[in-house]
Amino acid sequence: MEFKKSQKLYEKGLQHLVGAVNSPVRAFASVGGNPLFIKKAKGTTIVDVDGNRYVDYVLSYGPMILGHRHKKVQKAIQKALKNGYTFGASTHNEIKLAKIVCDAFPGMDKVRFVNSGTEAVLSALRLARAYTGKDKIIKFSGCYHGHSDALLVAAGSGLATLSMPGSKGVPEDAVKNTLIATFNDLDSVKAHFKQHDDIAAVIVEPIAGNMGVVLPEDGFLSDLKTYLESQGALLIADEVMTGFRSTFGGAQELFNVVADITCLGKVIGGGFPVGAYGARNEIMEMVAPLGGMYQAGTLSGNPIAMAAGIATLTELKKQNPYEQFDEVAAILEVILLETAKKYNIDLVVNRFGSMINPFFVKNEVSNFEDALKADTKKFAVFFWEMIKNGVFLPPSQFEAWFLSSALSENDLKKTTKAIDAAMLAVSKM
Ligand code: PMP
Repeated sequence: MEFKKSQKLYEKGLQHLVGAVNSPVRAFASVGGNPLFIKKAKGTTIVDVDGNRYVDYVLSYGPMILGHRHKKVQKAIQKALKNGYTFGASTHNEIKLAKIVCDAFPGMDKVRFVNSGTEAVLSALRLARAYTGKDKIIKFSGCYHGHSDALLVAAGSGLATLSMPGSKGVPEDAVKNTLIATFNDLDSVKAHFKQHDDIAAVIVEPIAGNMGVVLPEDGFLSDLKTYLESQGALLIADEVMTGFRSTFGGAQELFNVVADITCLGKVIGGGFPVGAYGARNEIMEMVAPLGGMYQAGTLSGNPIAMAAGIATLTELKKQNPYEQFDEVAAILEVILLETAKKYNIDLVVNRFGSMINPFFVKNEVSNFEDALKADTKKFAVFFWEMIKNGVFLPPSQFEAWFLSSALSENDLKKTTKAIDAAMLAVSKM
């Protein structure tokens, strides 16, 4: 397998792009080697500029849940393109997508569309503060909520990948109202409430996907919600990753909790830049033009993105692939664990629905501290061997692998072979 053209583009890209990428994890920094440049993708197959073909488990970090270029989504985009790309005025499709989203999430009477998960979350924090009149926010270490100043502390995703505790350029003032708790540990939340009486909200990835996949323990989310109610604080569910992916109504449906504010992204844009935040009427009526919390966007509710989102969610509802996701992930889990055992490698697999994550670690992973014990050097060897065997994974131990409903038996066969070769390589380290 050759990567000559990717290598050339990488060298060329370095001149005018930072690290030749527009988002840090794409740089392959933690697995060594240079990033691949992609030419095209269809279904579950992604093709790099050298013509190498891979089964894609990155899926643009989640959005491509139907696989790439699904016929119906592509058709909807092409149809929308004929009418223009952006108007700075409302369109019927915004109302249609809003209805699909609000019908799926019982905690959302109204929704506001934005352009990314980051924007959704930073707006949700502002809304929680506006509604409660309080300033402090609690987040869990290892959860990632985008790159807004207040949330770039103890964050997962790219920061975990690059071993960065936070970000330069974030003033102390911007994080002085951010408190850190431990995922799956309600006592760590309560300890903050004992010390502070101005906590507006707790933000959580209900199924954490940015420290690798980490599941909420039984009762964690519902106990958290009940406790917050008793304290007059809001629960913000960051379902940017899990919304419409864990099941149609997100992790809240599965774990039987209704958050006060919900953040969405990824799948709802069908591959275009869309984020959203929403809540019950009483809270959303704080947002301008109805209320005094300001938030806006030139391209928000972009017509092409709305069309892609509607087509994706409509097809997703029809396919209802969630049981199938669980079955496929269970098969992958067994393959990963049995192959690791065959080569005498410590491995823990966490999975939920269409998100799965093997950790090169001995003991179970239920929070960020556990996840950080994973052997990233082993992951790097595993990653490159998977690439050489035609499987495209997120280039980080701390990013979830995503499944699409287009995944076939042949893809699984190819993946199984690749896993064997990759575990063998790890065993020889
Ligand atoms: N929240 C979560 C849970 C995420 O996974 C992400 C992105 N991985 C974000 C927020 C930020 O979204 P975006 O990259 O679209 O700004």
